[in-house]
Amino acid sequence: MNNTKYVFVTGGVTSSLGKGIIAASLAKLVQERGYSVTIQKLDPYINIDPGTLNPYEHGECYVTDDGAETDLDLGHYERFLNIPTSQANNVTTGRIYQSVINKERKGEFLGKTVQVIPHITDEIKHRIQILGNTGDYDIVITEIGGTIGDIESLPYVEAVRQLQWELGEENAIVVHLTLVPYLSAAGELKTKPTQHSVKLLMQSGVSPNVLVCRSEHEINDTIKRKLALFCNVKKQDVIQSLDAETIYDVPNLMFNQGLDYVVLDKLRLSTRKQPKLKAWNAFLKKHKNPVSTVEIGLVGKYVELHDSYKSITEAFIHAGAANKTKVNVRWIHSEELTPENAADQLKGLNGVLVAPGFGDRGIEGKISAVQYVRENNIPFFGICLGMQMAVIEFARNVVGLSDANSTEMGDNIKYPVINLMEEQKDVTEKGGTMRLGAWDCQLTQDSKVFNAYKEEFISERHRHRYEFNNNYKKQIEEAGMKATGVNPKTGLVEIVEIASHPWFVGVQYHPEYKSTVLNPHPLFVNFIKAVLKHSK
Ligand code: GLN
Repeated sequence: MNNTKYVFVTGGVTSSLGKGIIAASLAKLVQERGYSVTIQKLDPYINIDPGTLNPYEHGECYVTDDGAETDLDLGHYERFLNIPTSQANNVTTGRIYQSVINKERKGEFLGKTVQVIPHITDEIKHRIQILGNTGDYDIVITEIGGTIGDIESLPYVEAVRQLQWELGEENAIVVHLTLVPYLSAAGELKTKPTQHSVKLLMQSGVSPNVLVCRSEHEINDTIKRKLALFCNVKKQDVIQSLDAETIYDVPNLMFNQGLDYVVLDKLRLSTRKQPKLKAWNAFLKKHKNPVSTVEIGLVGKYVELHDSYKSITEAFIHAGAANKTKVNVRWIHSEELTPENAADQLKGLNGVLVAPGFGDRGIEGKISAVQYVRENNIPFFGICLGMQMAVIEFARNVVGLSDANSTEMGDNIKYPVINLMEEQKDVTEKGGTMRLGAWDCQLTQDSKVFNAYKEEFISERHRHRYEFNNNYKKQIEEAGMKATGVNPKTGLVEIVEIASHPWFVGVQYHPEYKSTVLNPHPLFVNFIKAVLKHSK
């Protein structure tokens, strides 16, 4: 038995209120007060993990060091807290049912009827406490996905009710996030939706301990008192959360409202040490006072939904601040790019990033973008599929292998410069079977990447099935594209760059997953530096 305290974050009224950011901000504040903390997300859908989801469904799939394919909120948790998350930090209904059903098949419940209560709720409680039971955390914050009232959220709310009963309210509290809408015709903020969502929560036996109210207008004391009265909390437990200029303002806003204070107070934890947010605020200052501006083209096929590239755009914000530069992103749909219109579409850009992706939709557009920036000496950053497209473009237009392609894009590829990895050849299942998570890479000294990392050995996160085909390495290197980062054990090419170009780097891994506010990713920082130089 250890003393880990639990905070559950639920959402009411509507989705998209920013539970993940509130959870991350609360975590940041208690971390600054000296507590060790982690955040977990429970997702009420049936997929085992979001790895098989199209980005249009829930945005980017975020990958952890241990190779878990997770919800993009975990990216926020890492960017705010600067500590890695793991498989245990994201659990879906699918995974819960899968383990209960596996146990049933093994005979672990022999003789019993297996039911939502207690078996599913027990599994949920077990998953919540796995993090606490490591003994590594003073506080575990668990965000319950979905909205109170959804059918699929019910077992989670019941698990929270049971845990609160088992652990006591001084060890497990509920922070409920709701919306307080403003009716402009009436000129009034409305508390009824919040009252209703709290009522729904109470019908399941859970009383919120703290209310965080999203609003576009100041929630005055009279309204706070009303919300408190009808929702059974104290006035100081009603926290307003106004729209922020940037998500990185939210920790300060929550501190000003006393969110961390009321949470710690309820958990009977000391509030003596104040959060200082020194490094955090230094970042904010640079972020809000840039001395230069650059424009970067982000070429991808999911650009209609910016959340599909969440970690990349956040990494630009971190790297921009490090360079005191505002990074504007121009979203470019790869399907709309052709060799003929590339010059027009990419006109005025100071740098181009070609994004990760799967399948052949839009790849010729990506290749056109690469050709244009390579020939015109515009800084280029290719990530995963973006790196593979850079290799294909180079093979076709410089080496002269005119039909070069990736075997992902069809059968009978004449020059398969990108090839399915050997260990992938027998893989038939789609879920969780890619080359995932952290793998080592050794950098060539005297390269742009070595200059950025200032280290010979790095570890980065992956999510791919295809790789640089080493049969073409000699030919490609002789023509001027060098493999400057390689897996020391397997020889898999992790990085390619063109030395004669101002900044042309393609990486097989995903550097964006490891960029945080306090540790902006060195490659992004270096890329923005090159972009800035190019812009002048
Ligand atoms: N589709 C490519 C592969 O599987 C690239 C994957 C990615 O961009 N994440 O290798």
